[in-house]
Amino acid sequence: MGEWGLCYNSFAMDTKRFVKQNIRVLSAYEAKEIPYKVKLDANESPYSFRDVTKTLRKIETNRYPDPEAKDLRKIIAKGLGVSQGAILHGNGSDELIYYLITVFGGPVLFPVPTFSMYGIISQALGEKTIPIFLDEEFDLDVDSICTMMRKARPKLVFLSSPNNPTGNCFSADRILKIINDARGIVVIDEAYQPFSSNKGFIPLLRDYKNLLIMRTLSKVGLAGLRVGFLIGDDEIINEVNKVRLPFNLNSVSQAVAADALKNKKRLRSHIKSIVSERDKLFKEMERIGTIHPYPSEANFILFRVQEPDRIYKGLMKRGVLIRNINSVIRGCLRVTVGTPYENRTFLNALKRVLRA
Ligand code: PMP
Repeated sequence: MGEWGLCYNSFAMDTKRFVKQNIRVLSAYEAKEIPYKVKLDANESPYSFRDVTKTLRKIETNRYPDPEAKDLRKIIAKGLGVSQGAILHGNGSDELIYYLITVFGGPVLFPVPTFSMYGIISQALGEKTIPIFLDEEFDLDVDSICTMMRKARPKLVFLSSPNNPTGNCFSADRILKIINDARGIVVIDEAYQPFSSNKGFIPLLRDYKNLLIMRTLSKVGLAGLRVGFLIGDDEIINEVNKVRLPFNLNSVSQAVAADALKNKKRLRSHIKSIVSERDKLFKEMERIGTIHPYPSEANFILFRVQEPDRIYKGLMKRGVLIRNINSVIRGCLRVTVGTPYENRTFLNALKRVLRA
């Protein structure tokens, strides 16, 4: 009994029961605070844009941001050779995935393993998912996908190419077959396109009204700004724009991203160095012999080891943070490509842990 003569238990209402069933089964996203020397776990760029003070001085903090992010969209449109109306900005591509599933609904089809947010957001919005396993080469099982598209008529298909966490691009002819057979929207998530030797699918937008391409600035040095964008037919973009929150992209992100994109030379040189480091890192990992790295078109490398949990923990103890993918792909870990120093630190630690 409490001070006011009330039984505290009478207030101990089980508020959880008010929560929708599809939300109850979810867990909140948590990023554990793990101390590290080198951080190679989140597919970020190792290169930060530090000289932003001049840009920040121009920002009026008392004003709302431009709801339409006109300057930024103009720069992006010019860079991609599309019209401004063909671009929708998001607070990271995560937000755009939310919008897409809100607008088109489910079922939502995607291959697995892939980027987890397609499934998580579908679940949060109470939409049915159709996960379809990749084949042995981590390519699309195009027959199963086309069969399911006929049977279940998904409203949305998400294809991440290059795919996270496998690192490969899906075969272009398989993607094309899926776009041709789809009776709903196909979204190609090109988050890692800047690191790929393949051209990507933006040129196809002219021929397919049901195709959307998603890009992000998170992998090229601007993850902290949360800037993603969707590219597609003006009409579809307009529909998705109806659910966009008015001021979804804050003034700092708009201004810093716009300035960063103007300096194409610097962006290109960062990407070039990441790609060349990736190829070097891959060769070094192959040379180890007891591990199996998978070829990558992205800014990370998936690799198979004999004792994934021990290796992961051993690296962590040495201050090298990578991603344990063992629960998703048996025996696999994923390392993001860092600076030459970070990659060397990772390789040295990996060799030690493997020997231990
Ligand atoms: N798509 C893929 C395939 C990803 O791997 C990620 C980030 N891990 C995202 C989208 C999310 O990007 P953003 O930071 O723009 O939300």
